[in-house]
Amino acid sequence: MSTVKAAVLTAYEQPLELREYPALREVAPGEALVRVEIAGICGTDVHLWLGQLHVPLPVILGHETVGRLEAIGEGLTHDWRGNPLAVGDRVSWASSIVCGECYYCRVKRQPTRCTSRKAYGISYCADTAPHLRGGYAQQIHLRAGTAIFRLPDSLPSDAVVGAGCALATAIHGIERSPVEWGDTVIVQGTGPVGLAAIAVAKQAGATKILAIGGPPHRLELARQFGASETIDIGAVSDPAERHKIALAFTGGFGADVVIECVGYPGAVNEGIELPRDGGRFLILGQYANAGNISFNPHTITRKQLAVQGSWGFEPRHVDRALRLLEIPHWQQLFAGEITARFPLEQANEALRTVKNWSAGKTVLIP
Ligand SMILES: [Zn+2]
Ligand SMILES: [Zn+2]
Repeated sequence: MSTVKAAVLTAYEQPLELREYPALREVAPGEALVRVEIAGICGTDVHLWLGQLHVPLPVILGHETVGRLEAIGEGLTHDWRGNPLAVGDRVSWASSIVCGECYYCRVKRQPTRCTSRKAYGISYCADTAPHLRGGYAQQIHLRAGTAIFRLPDSLPSDAVVGAGCALATAIHGIERSPVEWGDTVIVQGTGPVGLAAIAVAKQAGATKILAIGGPPHRLELARQFGASETIDIGAVSDPAERHKIALAFTGGFGADVVIECVGYPGAVNEGIELPRDGGRFLILGQYANAGNISFNPHTITRKQLAVQGSWGFEPRHVDRALRLLEIPHWQQLFAGEITARFPLEQANEALRTVKNWSAGKTVLIP
């Protein structure tokens, strides 16, 4: 094959364009070439498409990817965990690379806030060689320093992409705002991040989990993932009514941990009322800047809340996500999230299913 196809975002709110790029054959030391097998569509891709996060256009989207190594550069002998790497290995990788040297990387140990952090499928202009730096393509070029993970044969690609960036995001968030054994947890939102938060909370030992979200097919998934109860925001549209149900669920006091995975600013107003006094509120869903809300800060003082934000994840969270996916129960649930598969040529239809919440997890098969 002398060219490879890619679905490219060339202008916000416009259909992705199918473009061809020269196929890559050779790599410099430390780099790798991967033949893409499956690429997940993340909610962030919809935000990017709609222009809610500014990126260098044109860009090949896609930051949840599994493929097979086609070429590995000199010196790239092992994956991030120390497993030997060879051409033909099935791999995934952490979607972003940080510098390791800036104030946040080195001094303050907040590498997700690295001042020169770059993410595949987000930060690389497709007009610049080697062009292929996103998952919505038949081939992807990985920079030296990418945290590559060789996937064990027992771990299906569907589980890895079904979990996508949501699982590592939830693991990072819950590391910052821990769920302890026996905790009661409320998860706002039943999209991929909400379901992943339910899984991580459950695995961490939460004994009761309430999921607030919709539509009904997502709530059914939430119950399969471990929610003991759900509130359908379509059926219970009054936030005051939802608050009453949530309080009753937690024995009248509120939850130990509330995790916002919605992405709409208004959800923060509702969520901040739901922890018990001295409880924790993790705001995980506001990745795109969707605007301001007003709220009463007295609630935070009076309830002695720990309010926590969390942005992205590090390779060590990908490592833990893959470990969680080796547990058959979670493997099946995350793989089962995938309900729609499209070829690259139908990337626009695929994006629309994510925008309209009409499928579970949607993937491209380049
Ligand atoms: Zn994502
Ligand atoms: Zn840095």
